[in-house]
Formats: sequence, C-alpha cells, structure tokens
Amino acid sequence: MRIDIATLFPEMLETYLGESIVGRARKKGVFELQCHNIRDYTEDKHRRVDDTPYSERQGMLMQCEPIMNCYKAVAGERKPHVIFMSPQGKTLTQKRARELAQMDDLFILCGHYEGVDQRILDRIVDEEISVGDYVLTGGELPALVLVDCVVRMLEGTLSQTDCYEDESHYNALLEYPQYTRPEVWEGEKVPEVLLSGDHAKIAAWRREQQIINTWKKRPELLEKASLTHDDLAIIHKLNKGEIG
Ligand code: SAM
Repeated sequence: MRIDIATLFPEMLETYLGESIVGRARKKGVFELQCHNIRDYTEDKHRRVDDTPYSERQGMLMQCEPIMNCYKAVAGERKPHVIFMSPQGKTLTQKRARELAQMDDLFILCGHYEGVDQRILDRIVDEEISVGDYVLTGGELPALVLVDCVVRMLEGTLSQTDCYEDESHYNALLEYPQYTRPEVWEGEKVPEVLLSGDHAKIAAWRREQQIINTWKKRPELLEKASLTHDDLAIIHKLNKGEIG
C-alpha cells in the first residue's frame, strides 16, 4: 500500500509515523508513506497557501492552487483514492478502516485554519472522513488516527500474537477483559478459567465476556453484531439481572 499525506505540517506527522509499531512496519516496507508539504507547491513568492474567505467570515482558507499542484506532482498518472480529513465527513469506523486497508493507493489531505476552498474539494476528493463530532485545529491528528488504524490491519504490521481480529470493534463487539502476571495482585486473582489451559472453555469465557462488556459499556453496538443463540441467551440473562 502507498499512502501520501498532503499537509502544512509534515514534521508533526513524521514524528509519530516513525515510531513504535507503525514506524517499524513502515521501515520494514509493509507500506510506503510520504508526507508532502503543501507550501512547497505554492507559486507565491512568500510561500503563502491561504487567503481570506469571500464573505464576512473571519480567518483564513487554504487555496486551491498549491493543493492542486501538490496533488498533480504526487499522483502523476495514478488515481489514488483521495480522502479529506474533515469534521463534516462520515465518522471513521473500524469497518471503513478495514475497507481502506484493501486499497493500494491513498492520498490524504489535511486542512488547516478555517478549512479549504470548496472548489479543490469538489475537484479531487473522493471521500471526507471525520474522527468525531468536534472540531480540531487541523487535519494532522485525524490523518494520524486514520493511518494508524488502517496500517495496523495490513499483513506484517502486527505480530501474530497481537491479532486485531480479537480486538474491540472488529465484529461490532468490545474486547473481553485481559490479565497479565502476577496471578494474584493485591488479593485479586486472575479468573480461574484463564489458568485452566482448556482452550474451548477459554474461548467460551472470552465470548461471554465480550457480550457482557459490550452490553454494559456500548449496548447499541449489539444491534450491529452477529449474535449466536448462546450470545442471545447471555443478553437475556443480563437483561433479567441474573448475571453481570
Ligand atoms: N471550518 C471547518 C468546519 O466548520 O467544518 C472546520 C475547520 S478545522 C478548524 C481545520 C481543519 O481541521 C479541517 O479542514 C479538517 O481538515 C481538520 N479537522 C478538524 N476537525 C476534524 C475532525 N473532527 N475530523 C477530521 N478532520 C478534522
């Protein structure tokens, strides 16, 4: 997969994207990523990339030309899937990230100031993605959220033991509680089943805990999950107050 990010602050992104699991996967070549400074593509002698909006609005808007120049120089003959990070977009979900992880060419545009001239959005953007119903100062943090979420689902990013398929939101359920050593901490013992070595029992316990956890913390997610007869029986007991 190739990812290009167009931004006014490439250093903000590079720091994060060079570290930890994502940084290691990038160095290993699991994906190729380049950050491009939109300012390098302005023809203005003062390297300006913004101007005041038409209308009485305060603030500054990013102009079309530097973004278009950047896009053309980076994409060349290719047609990447272009994403604009925007509070007006559809909220990012694990499902959408998984679909994006199947694509092989992404171009992510980060806005700043009051946003971006609508005409460039109309011209090049395929999709707007939001990280939540609130407004941040720029698209850099949202782009990092998106890239992190997408690349951890690429083969080779996570080790086999860190399987994302068990994690929250993969199947519209939250993860089960997890424990590590010591076996007893301040009088609190790790659930007995986890020490049993019985894989079938552990799998059943985990599934039950996923249902309980989701029912308690994000009950609306259960409507989207594909539930078995046993899962429904657990929910029935939770609703009646028999467990949980
Ligand atoms: N005036 C814009 C509006 O009301 O929709 C908000 C502009 S915001 C201050 C500047 C930039 O930050 C946006 O163009 C976008 O790229 C990014 N941004 C802010 N909040 C975001 C969010 N929740 N999700 C994704 N991007 C966001």
